[in-house]
Amino acid sequence: MDSNTLLIIVVAALLIAVVGGVAVVVRRRQRELPAAPRRELPEQPQPDLRVAAPVEERVEVPEAPDSRMVRLRRRLAGSNNALARALADLLSSDRIDDATWDDFETTLITSDLGVAPTTELVTSLRRTLAVEGVSDPSRAREVLRSELVTMVDPGMDRTLKLDHPEGVPAVVMLVGVNGTGKTTTVGKLARMLIADGHTLLFGAADTFRAAAAEQLGTWGERVGVQTIRGDEGADPASVAYRAVEAGIAQGNDVVLIDTAGRLHTKVGLMDELGKVKRVIEKLAPVTEVLLVIDATTGQNGLAQARVFAEVVEVTGIVLTKLDGSAKGGIVIQVQRELGVPVKYIGLGEGVDDLAPFDADNFVAGLLGE
Ligand code: GDP
Repeated sequence: MDSNTLLIIVVAALLIAVVGGVAVVVRRRQRELPAAPRRELPEQPQPDLRVAAPVEERVEVPEAPDSRMVRLRRRLAGSNNALARALADLLSSDRIDDATWDDFETTLITSDLGVAPTTELVTSLRRTLAVEGVSDPSRAREVLRSELVTMVDPGMDRTLKLDHPEGVPAVVMLVGVNGTGKTTTVGKLARMLIADGHTLLFGAADTFRAAAAEQLGTWGERVGVQTIRGDEGADPASVAYRAVEAGIAQGNDVVLIDTAGRLHTKVGLMDELGKVKRVIEKLAPVTEVLLVIDATTGQNGLAQARVFAEVVEVTGIVLTKLDGSAKGGIVIQVQRELGVPVKYIGLGEGVDDLAPFDADNFVAGLLGE
């Protein structure tokens, strides 16, 4: 090999080394550089973040339970002023004779107070007014108010029982005829419990109607609570069991179980609700069985309530739809019949339209105040 050839080989080798080195550096720099903005791409439609956002982000802060009764009292007053009017008529009469008292009595009965409580109330009112020789309407109103409050029984324990051992949730079952407002009440109650700092889970144990589980799921999304569901026609007890199991696994402290309210046969109902309760109690205590009653159904609702009370040990009553054409006197009747306190009242379809029952505010609402 002559010296020229050797020179050519050396120069070629140097050139290859230089070109290769430059290529490596360029590639490395490309890797290190941030990606160039893709300005040339047409703008893409953005996904609907409201749909994709986690449930919690869409849930507003619930109204505190204490202010509810005061706000909702006005709705009660609006729907029950027949009683207030009757009282005004009674007190404005020049002479309160038997016919006036009869009219007053009829109004009380049509307010669903029931015959026996009405008779007691009128007898007591007549006696007090006669003894005191009352002619002052405001004093008569006071007397009526205090009689009604006594009948509603302010001494009853209306707190929701949620005591549970460490590591397992308290379980609240909602029972009642379909259409009374069970599912809606689960949602509303959840809002109140969340406001009190509880962590919840729903169990959709009404597996007979697919729509029922869907409705509960919708309420769950609305209030930020997960819903455990089963297939349509699944065993309600197994869904309830799975819900409580999930509650234990997730460390929730309350599980609300929505049940089916088919009044097919008493025995069938008893078997079904009894089984749901027994199965849940293998895992956690059922601390409350709330019977939901539609206040607008009057005596019929009361008859249905009796059937439920016979098949399952009811610990509290939720009276719904007291905002409509309801007759508030049913509170007194239902408590007397079942010997169980009304714990909540529903006064509308809104998420915060449920209030813990309070005797004084309730009577004030009844009297249209
Ligand atoms: P369920 O079959 O017992 O679960 O009853 P739902 O919860 O589906 O309620 C039946 C209907 O009653 C729904 O249209 C609810 O919006 C309505 N509802 C429930 N509670 C109340 C209430 O307190 N006031 C009024 N006005 N409607 C209510």
